[in-house]
Amino acid sequence: MRPALLNALFAPLTTLPGIGPRLAPLYQRLAGERVVDLLWHLPSGVVDRRFAPKVAEAPSGRVCTLTVRVDAHMPSASRNRPYRVRCSDETGFLHLVFFHGREDWLRRQLPEGEWRVVSGVVEHFNNEVQITHPDHVVPPPERDSIMVVEAVYPLTAGLTARMVAKTVRVALGHAPDLPEWQDPAWLERQGWPSWRQAIEAVHHPDDARAITEDTPARRRLAYDELLANQLALVMVRTHMRKLKGRPLAGDGRLRQAVLAALPFRLTGAQERSLAEIEADMAAPLRMLRLLQGDVGSGKTVVALLAALAAVETGAQAALMAPTEILARQHLATIEPLAAAAGVRVALLTGRDKGKAREALLAAVAAGEVDILIGTHSLFQEDVAFRDLALAVIDEQHRFGVHQRLDLASKGQAVDVLVMTATPIPRTLLLTAYGDMDASRLDEKPPGRQPVDTRALPLGRLEDVVAGVRRAIMGGARVYWVCPLVEDSETSDMAAAEERHRHLTDILGSRVGLVHGRMKSQAKDKVMAAFAAGEVDILVATTVIEVGVNVPEATIMVIEHAERFGLAQLHQLRGRVGRGTAASSCLLLYDAPLSETAKARLEIMRATEDGFRIAEEDLRLRGGGEILGTRQSGLPEFALADLGLHADLLAAARDDARLVLDRDPDLTGPRGQSLRVLLYLFDRDAAVRTLRSG
Ligand code: ADP
Ligand code: MG
Repeated sequence: MRPALLNALFAPLTTLPGIGPRLAPLYQRLAGERVVDLLWHLPSGVVDRRFAPKVAEAPSGRVCTLTVRVDAHMPSASRNRPYRVRCSDETGFLHLVFFHGREDWLRRQLPEGEWRVVSGVVEHFNNEVQITHPDHVVPPPERDSIMVVEAVYPLTAGLTARMVAKTVRVALGHAPDLPEWQDPAWLERQGWPSWRQAIEAVHHPDDARAITEDTPARRRLAYDELLANQLALVMVRTHMRKLKGRPLAGDGRLRQAVLAALPFRLTGAQERSLAEIEADMAAPLRMLRLLQGDVGSGKTVVALLAALAAVETGAQAALMAPTEILARQHLATIEPLAAAAGVRVALLTGRDKGKAREALLAAVAAGEVDILIGTHSLFQEDVAFRDLALAVIDEQHRFGVHQRLDLASKGQAVDVLVMTATPIPRTLLLTAYGDMDASRLDEKPPGRQPVDTRALPLGRLEDVVAGVRRAIMGGARVYWVCPLVEDSETSDMAAAEERHRHLTDILGSRVGLVHGRMKSQAKDKVMAAFAAGEVDILVATTVIEVGVNVPEATIMVIEHAERFGLAQLHQLRGRVGRGTAASSCLLLYDAPLSETAKARLEIMRATEDGFRIAEEDLRLRGGGEILGTRQSGLPEFALADLGLHADLLAAARDDARLVLDRDPDLTGPRGQSLRVLLYLFDRDAAVRTLRSG
């Protein structure tokens, strides 16, 4: 149970005064549903209102706070003329300008003959000093309340800067004092404030540097968040370790049969990874291992061989893919090989219904299926195994930790192997998987040719189309990926549809289109046509990022490459260069490029090593570049920035281990406070793994 101390923070935003059913959805879009989400909504800049000159000395273009007498209202003479209010101090006149101003309201705010303090950007226009739509108008006794450095927050349509700032202030008022969960000596050494002081400080910056620089308050909060993340990971991991495993060591007969049937030899990296996996499986502990390898590095075969090791003991294995296309592809790869060893494989997807599904489930429950491949439909309630011993999860970052555990709960002491095609930098690996054991396939199967990668400005689009046309006439197959327009699939789709029309006009009917809004059947059909060579060019949104293996495809065109994350570009490029023919990748960009964008495209040209690309990506993201973490499924931090706080992450990991070594159930004084921290950052699931959680 979440400590009552946090109730006010976890209450819905609608419990705050002034937030009703109309505003709540806007705040929800901006920050989240709960009061605490607003606390994590940090300012993106400041306005310094402390400059308070006389009217005659107020410079143009600067935010000034002026104390003036209201002389006269001059309502607008016509609809497109502004409403003006003339004010003055002893040095001159100041005109306040309002477009579409409401007279009754303005007269109440600015009564003639009275003094007011106004704040806003001063302009000089037609020899007059003026402020258009002042940000603040208050009576003189309230002067101090606006003569401050004001935090400016990211906004969303329908919310004004003033509304958001005010609501955050109210939310801060609801923030309780929380027990200190950090080690006092460490806090002291870092010179960090308490949580309460820190959260106040980040919302009341002294100056712009407090936003752009890494202040003690900001670092403290980042460390809190990272510590919660690391604690939770270590706790879940410890919990898993405590669950009994079972030694799974087959006699090797099925693996031998499949190895003999393979048209190739395993790479060194595949052999090494497989040995690591087999050793884990043979141990009496539960396996929780990550298999990392670029697209095309040969993860599927490794997964199959691991599955066979389980099947050799008479148990079953499951392989879960994030999409149906991928599940089918795994089936296509695995089925013929498994057949060579007499191993029974079946596919279960969301599309299976009725009698056929029942029959399949009965076979799985009876142990007549050795390896079950599927999508997330594998962990539906009615899916029961006779004896599931290994769950392989081809993650591609689409699943969460709890889903991994769900599948594992379908058997006794199930070993779990997670596969990912996104090379994850070591720092990020720590945040997503804690100290999960990891194997790396860092060696490509032999015979692959490097992909010739070039960056071209979008102005050369017609040249590219002409080149693609020539290539197609020579028998090439081409992927054409359309830009991410916004954070919206609808607009992605529109861009892709338009490019599809454009290319169809030029190249004729053998142009296909896939996007995320299509039904999976329709999508599969187009992909199948592309794989079969009935379609030469496949226009796509990033849906093709996940999976699909068409070794004949040799050209990848990516429009607005500057809008994609490096990891994504790398994944996309990995779709070509899978066969023996030479391949190329054209990165079309919108000139001019920012320095960072230039550097990113340059890395793509320079290397195909996914691990190196991932490290560089993290380094370059730095301040404010789009992380692409939403697509990647890696945890998103509200307060920590891994470009900035990587040092804190390592410290948090060590801290988490040490704490849990000493106080595994978090029952000591610091332990109790750390529980509050875990709840504060929504790590409830981790707390539940504790004996007295
Ligand atoms: P991943 O799942 O890592 O993207 P796959 O397992 O789909 O990669 O393998 C990509 C292709 O490489 C498949 O056609 C597979 O048969 C082939 N392959 C795998 N291992 C080897 C190897 N050691 N030598 C040659 N080809 C291999
Ligand atoms: Mg694969």
